[in-house]
Amino acid sequence: MFGRPPKKSDNTKYYEILGVSKTASQDDLKKAYRKAAIKNHPDKGGDPEKFKELAQAYEVLSDPEKREIYDQYGEDALKEGMGGGGGGHDPFDIYQSFFGGGSPFGGKNKGSKTEKGEDVVHPLKVSLEDLYNGTSKKLSLARNVLCSKCKGKGSKSGASLTCPGCQGSGMKVSIRQLGPSMIQQMQHACGECKGTGETINDKDRCPQCKGDKVSQEKKVLEVHVEKGMQNGQKITFPGEADEAPDTVTGDIVFVLQQKEHPKFKRKGDDLFYEHTLSLTESLCGFQFILTHLDGRHLLIKSEAGEVVKPDQFKAINDEGMPMYQRPFMKGKLYIQFTVDFPDTLSLDQCKALEAVLPPRSSTQLTDMEIDECEETTLHDVNIMEEEMRRKQQAQEAYEEDEDMPGGAQRVQCAQQ
Ligand SMILES: [Zn+2]
Ligand SMILES: [Zn+2]
Repeated sequence: MFGRPPKKSDNTKYYEILGVSKTASQDDLKKAYRKAAIKNHPDKGGDPEKFKELAQAYEVLSDPEKREIYDQYGEDALKEGMGGGGGGHDPFDIYQSFFGGGSPFGGKNKGSKTEKGEDVVHPLKVSLEDLYNGTSKKLSLARNVLCSKCKGKGSKSGASLTCPGCQGSGMKVSIRQLGPSMIQQMQHACGECKGTGETINDKDRCPQCKGDKVSQEKKVLEVHVEKGMQNGQKITFPGEADEAPDTVTGDIVFVLQQKEHPKFKRKGDDLFYEHTLSLTESLCGFQFILTHLDGRHLLIKSEAGEVVKPDQFKAINDEGMPMYQRPFMKGKLYIQFTVDFPDTLSLDQCKALEAVLPPRSSTQLTDMEIDECEETTLHDVNIMEEEMRRKQQAQEAYEEDEDMPGGAQRVQCAQQ
């Protein structure tokens, strides 16, 4: 067991110096620092002390590892880690002197109370339009934050007692008799202290959180969905998950889930769109309006004299999805044409068509030739279904083959 970390001290000063909230992103920090540094630069008549403070605050908060330590234990903890001096250190040294060796985030020093809190993962449903145009969504989430009154101690005095239920281990072992000579040992979290190993004297309990150390807070997060993001892509809010005492707060992670689009399908940076032509359109030409994902109307038309065949693809360059972080580049928009053939034609229609279409491919058969043939009947078939049945049969035959040596025995056993 390593020594207890230093008591919780002021950990808001650096944020106040930079004039940002405790939840500021790295981007916010950078902007705030740049603005303040320009304003307070000694070369421009600013206060050198203030300028130094700014640089120090930024140095710590811009380093996620230092920021975590600062958020947890304040400025003093960092100074201790820096050997009181500061400057010319790397984050690893801080852990060395601060925790007495080993990383607090690694699994090695189980005695350390500083653990990484769990990340909270939320699916976020988006439309293909959202991914094409980019959007931002405001989401309200409930999270645990350290009680502001007791700073996460749970008690007025800051003291806690060893839980009598588990002697401070946080775990209890129960034994269950399963049979005459069999017992099952089960370990579970102690109910009296919720696995923390500590209790708080009733009189000393923090009046705000009743000793829970945390309280619930509603928080609105604004998720920026950028143009070209993909289904399954993650958007992370570092350190926004539930706070808990002596724990480095985990992240909130949103995972994009793209809803099916009724018209467009996406493959990478390309879009696919199906359009059905009448037989006349496929032979004699067509034009139609395609409403794109940003509401623009594209006029799609065939060339004069061009025939479009069933299942033919055509593509339009630069009308696919915008590329992530390069939204001015776009993939292709593919159009797959299906042709709606008439089910039947009248004799007159056939005659009219034969007059203009290319001649039949087969040569005329003579009565003699026909007389010598056997009559047949053509049935309608569902070729896909039959293909599937064929595959299934082949698979079954293959499996039987594989089972041959022991297969017969197994069947016997199963029948008993
Ligand atoms: Zn409290
Ligand atoms: Zn306990």
